[in-house]
Amino acid sequence: MSNPILEVDRASRTFGGLKAVQEVSFSVEEGEIFGVAGPNGSGKSTLFNLITGIPFPPTSGSIVFGGTRIDGKSPHAIARSGLARTFQKDAEFPDLSARETMLIGASYAGGMSGRQAGHAADDALELVSFPEDRRDVESGHLSVYEKKQLMIGSALVSNPRILMLDEPASGLTRPEIAALDKLLLDVNRTGVTILLIEHVLSLLLSVSERLLVLNQGQILASGDPQEVIRDPKVIEAYLGG
Ligand code: ADP
Ligand code: MG
Repeated sequence: MSNPILEVDRASRTFGGLKAVQEVSFSVEEGEIFGVAGPNGSGKSTLFNLITGIPFPPTSGSIVFGGTRIDGKSPHAIARSGLARTFQKDAEFPDLSARETMLIGASYAGGMSGRQAGHAADDALELVSFPEDRRDVESGHLSVYEKKQLMIGSALVSNPRILMLDEPASGLTRPEIAALDKLLLDVNRTGVTILLIEHVLSLLLSVSERLLVLNQGQILASGDPQEVIRDPKVIEAYLGG
């Protein structure tokens, strides 16, 4: 039984002579957590970029989201259709409080009154378990983990169907990674499909129902995470690179 929410078909992206993503095809099932791994420079972030159109669409191939083709649409139109992402490098507004940052996310999503945006901001902060007594603190004074919660919360404020996260565990301690693990499962349980790029393999293997491994812009292996990670090709790419 298959109910794909996202279908990527032979997506490619070149930069001059470099084939950063080459004929990559896969589909993501509605409601699953789908992991993406691969050595540095294997094309993971570029793959996210071309799915979201930020900052560029694929050079070739097609991307279908919820039954509608989205490649070639504007990044804003893609976001509005229910696809939210975070970036590898956290974008933040150090002078704004967590709540104000969330309201910016809500206004970017559009279509909400001020009151609705306020509720959406509170709901999203709740969903990522953001501490009640830290919501009016300037973001610049938040802890590393609180900033992660805020980053993920901002992506959730528009009520997306898919949440795409690019290495959310970077910079976190072990206990914080355990908290992030729970956070991702909490979010997923509300029905949000998650696409997760993560170099912290323990987290990736803990939460992902399926795993795709990229190497030099191409799919090296995909499927059951425990099988994929034992694939000699995958081991070679990680250790031999
Ligand atoms: P990963 O996220 O897996 O570490 P990236 O997707 O960031 O890998 O990069 C894949 C390849 O594409 C790398 O060789 C990188 O240098 C190149 N690349 C990524 N973005 C650009 C860009 N905007 N212009 C030129 N080359 C890029
Ligand atoms: Mg990357």
